[in-house]
Amino acid sequence: MTRRGSKAEARRADLFRSSRIAKLLSRGWIKEASEIPADAIPVDPDLVSFGSERSYSHPAYFRDYTFLCSDCGVPGVWTAEDQRWYYETTKAASYQVAVRCRECRLKERERIREARRRAGHDPDGK
Ligand SMILES: [Zn+2]
Repeated sequence: MTRRGSKAEARRADLFRSSRIAKLLSRGWIKEASEIPADAIPVDPDLVSFGSERSYSHPAYFRDYTFLCSDCGVPGVWTAEDQRWYYETTKAASYQVAVRCRECRLKERERIREARRRAGHDPDGK
């Protein structure tokens, strides 16, 4: 147990959160800091590719999201952290959301790979 480490981590998380909230406020994406729920991750408007203007088509924060897998119907959770990675690191468009559970996502990836291979493409080719 590293109590000191977790304290420093909490401070870093606070700073991360408050600087993002300040940015959202200055961009007019939110009017009050209280619009961001305590269990949500505020969006960094500079990192997402939602466009510069806040609209109802995209959120000002990421929050754990429960969905039913489109393939097997099993409920899955798309975590706020995974969404942050998806939208801020891969620059996905805001209408792209998780529809498959992890297991079906891997199966789907394998199915596409296999289809490409059968079509005569090198699956690892770029
Ligand atoms: Zn599934």
